[in-house]
Amino acid sequence: MLKKVMITAAISGAETTREQQPALPVTPQEMALAAKACREAGASIIHLHARDDAGNPTASVARFAQCLEAIRAVTDVVVEFTTGGAIGMSDDERLAPVAMGPEMASLDCGSVNFADEILPNSLPSMRRFATTMLEKGVKPTFECFDVGHVYNARILIAEGLVKPPYHFTFVLGVPGAMPATVEALLMMKAALPTDVELEWTGIGVGGRGSALIPPVSALMGGHARVGFEDNVYFTRGVLASSNAQLVARIADTIRAYGKEVASPDDVRARFGLR
Ligand code: ZN
Repeated sequence: MLKKVMITAAISGAETTREQQPALPVTPQEMALAAKACREAGASIIHLHARDDAGNPTASVARFAQCLEAIRAVTDVVVEFTTGGAIGMSDDERLAPVAMGPEMASLDCGSVNFADEILPNSLPSMRRFATTMLEKGVKPTFECFDVGHVYNARILIAEGLVKPPYHFTFVLGVPGAMPATVEALLMMKAALPTDVELEWTGIGVGGRGSALIPPVSALMGGHARVGFEDNVYFTRGVLASSNAQLVARIADTIRAYGKEVASPDDVRARFGLR
């Protein structure tokens, strides 16, 4: 277990809009500036979704490459590409950016309702995503929206499609999936395999969820994710001024309770990233 706490900043996501959050980064340059500010505030990993010029989510390999290049030019933060993409994207689209070999990528570990929509992830799809990441030397982050998803990840582990140490995230608070409660967090954690090397990160979706799950996770031996993908508010009814403001608050909380915040190189050492 990594003693220091990794902070992931999910700076854009696929669903958040400029109307909801005027400081949402959209262009590669904006992504880079947000990533740099988050790094300076304490983030070690940037979870990246790309947007087109109109601000819509895109699976464009070129756009992901531009974002990665822009981020690389200004900061040493670890970059984790999404392969969850956006609702309606095909597996081929979601997986395409992984070909350029980012250090990390998310791997959705099961199908899930997203309010009125469905995010489909069959086990054969998950095997394909895991195999591609293994071939490209990309560290997967298991994204678990439900308890069964943790067991799907354990199937991929048992089949040797992912190398240890493993990284799990618990995404709590999506309408139709597990709620952003401590009880749900404990249930997810209890489903983790106990005989392997792993790290886990708590994600809370929505204002209340994001105020509860990341700090609780960080204080109980896990790691924390914050950012505009998960929540646009700083406090109830008050928008955050930037992704970095949310990162700074969780970093302050972690340090205030006597823990250290991990650097990008701590994350690289822990996961053996290239
Ligand atoms: Zn995402």
